[in-house]
Amino acid sequence: MSLIVQKFGGSSVANAERIFNVADIVTGTYKQGNDVVVVVSAQGDTTDDLIEKAKEINPDASKREMDMLLTAGEQMSASLLAMAIEKLGCPVVSLLGWQAGFLTSSAYGTARIKRVVPDRIKKELDKKNIVVVTGFQGVNRYNDMTTLGRGGSDTSAVAIAAVMHADLCQIFTDVDGVYTADPRKVPGAKKLKTISYNEMLELATLGAQVLNNRSVEMAMKYNIELEVLSSLTREPGTIVKEANKMEKMLISGVAKDEDVARISIIGVPDRPGLAFKIFSKLSAKKINVDIILQSIGHNGTKDISFTVGKSNLKDAIDTLTPYIEVLGASSIVHDENVAKVSIVGAGMESHPGVAAEMFEALFEANINIRMISTSEIKISVLIDRADADRAVTAIHNKFFTPDQL
Ligand code: ASP
Ligand code: MG
Repeated sequence: MSLIVQKFGGSSVANAERIFNVADIVTGTYKQGNDVVVVVSAQGDTTDDLIEKAKEINPDASKREMDMLLTAGEQMSASLLAMAIEKLGCPVVSLLGWQAGFLTSSAYGTARIKRVVPDRIKKELDKKNIVVVTGFQGVNRYNDMTTLGRGGSDTSAVAIAAVMHADLCQIFTDVDGVYTADPRKVPGAKKLKTISYNEMLELATLGAQVLNNRSVEMAMKYNIELEVLSSLTREPGTIVKEANKMEKMLISGVAKDEDVARISIIGVPDRPGLAFKIFSKLSAKKINVDIILQSIGHNGTKDISFTVGKSNLKDAIDTLTPYIEVLGASSIVHDENVAKVSIVGAGMESHPGVAAEMFEALFEANINIRMISTSEIKISVLIDRADADRAVTAIHNKFFTPDQL
């Protein structure tokens, strides 16, 4: 007998028919003799709809009340799924985050899980119940309900799998696995059988919408193998696990991120300490900076360019503008019509020439590179947004020929 955690995203429980489909998967797993803990997201677009409803009443509602509202979405899907499971004749109980022992930090809207105390879950499993838990929520030290940030149900599922030492953690979604590129946009994109935590983390952070990146971090920390699969096709999905347990692929994926803007500070005096001054101002405002490029000095000045997420653009400009004169720089400019295209692969660590191949693909597609950044398992380029889809396809074609997979 195994303990299996199964998480179902909003699209998997979007309506009555889909809820019965999930109930069928869950009860099937239970009838094979397993203990099953199920984590659910809110149905379909419920969370977005609740946010809209709140805006109609008070666009500046407190974060506490927002969490009070948003936790209701998962309460609905958990109870409805439990009713469907009852109807299929299996014993079941649904639990809210606090009942399931999710203790979080107090930051409403972006709470972090501090501890999961699974006493109640264990008690219910001992009674042979299927346990359905609301994802995305917990309780803070004031006994108020909190949410974990958008997409947080994945993290709830991994947290339960970690504290309960589950044998398997399955993340059911509307795609049937992790692909080498977005299969809706890139012809020939292939499903991966396995991917390492580090690669998945890069891809999740780069905007692949399959898994929430905090859930991958947590899975890596506690060495929980994840399977990403579709609740609709029920085909085997992609396993996310430790790198040394698999053959390293040279490249496992190509990703595109359009949530990026470039800022350049022009004519910065070429003296020590100025980069420090600029970036410490941004870090004090908790603005995350991604690719950084500094031009070679000429006439005693240089330009410093970097990228930030679009939502941070205004804040970054407002923060730095008052200092432009103090720094002795001449101006600050920005560009939102850019995109970041990246390749991720554990194999590139030990394989020369990967960057050259990527740049060759871009050259052949006549796409100009504005900035480049690399890590051990990732190469990112910043290009014009209008070129982004073409770039992904060109790079994908370069690295993936049909016999490579
Ligand atoms: N329902 C929440 C959201 O839409 C949490 C989740 O889906 O994981 O962000
Ligand atoms: Mg959702």
